[in-house]
Amino acid sequence: MSKNILFIAPPAGGKSTICARLVENDGYIHIATGNLLRDIDASSDLGRKVQDKLSKGEFVDDDIVIELLKNKLQNLNGKPFILDGFPRNLHQARVLEELLNEYHLTLDLVIELIVSENTLLKRITGRQICPNCERTYNKYFMPPRVSGICDDCDVLLTSRIDDNEETFKVRFDTYMKETYPLIDYYREKGLVVKIDGEDNIYEQIVSVINDD
Ligand code: ADP
Repeated sequence: MSKNILFIAPPAGGKSTICARLVENDGYIHIATGNLLRDIDASSDLGRKVQDKLSKGEFVDDDIVIELLKNKLQNLNGKPFILDGFPRNLHQARVLEELLNEYHLTLDLVIELIVSENTLLKRITGRQICPNCERTYNKYFMPPRVSGICDDCDVLLTSRIDDNEETFKVRFDTYMKETYPLIDYYREKGLVVKIDGEDNIYEQIVSVINDD
């Protein structure tokens, strides 16, 4: 059985890698607000505004992010979804609740991924992404077969503009201040399950999804 899932994890907590497996193996729709924002044409007015926020590690304006989210939630065609990157604060959590009610959807599970700060930093500085298929590699933990080249597409891998130590610090501090309190919010609703984000993450998650 499938459950609609929300991931709460620090920046570079490993959400996108795990979500890719859930999409491929379990038929999930991945709603990743960071990806949706990065996909906006950078030469448009909106794109320039968004890129500026991303490069500083700051939140993008709610109205922009919520519009992207609505579009995804309205086009699920009955498939289960994984939310990754939204909500990021209590205000967004309340907006999400309203939208889910409006679209007759439920949130069934909130997964808190536990990862040490040391691992996060290595994931950030080593992360490389294929601009074509969006597959994520890490030069320390999961390198491609040929250094700097996507195994599947044979194109040069790129890095995100916000994947450096300085921006990581802003993103991590904001996560602790604004996003981490959401764990309590969802714990009160009985939805939170903690997962060790360093080992056998996929297997742990599948076992929680199948647990009733
Ligand atoms: P990470 O979880 O590694 O920080 P994401 O891809 O989730 O990466 O987000 C990257 C950036 O996109 C954030 O630092 C922020 O600027 C922007 N962003 C993503 N989701 C939201 C959101 N819900 N509200 C505001 N800004 C967002």
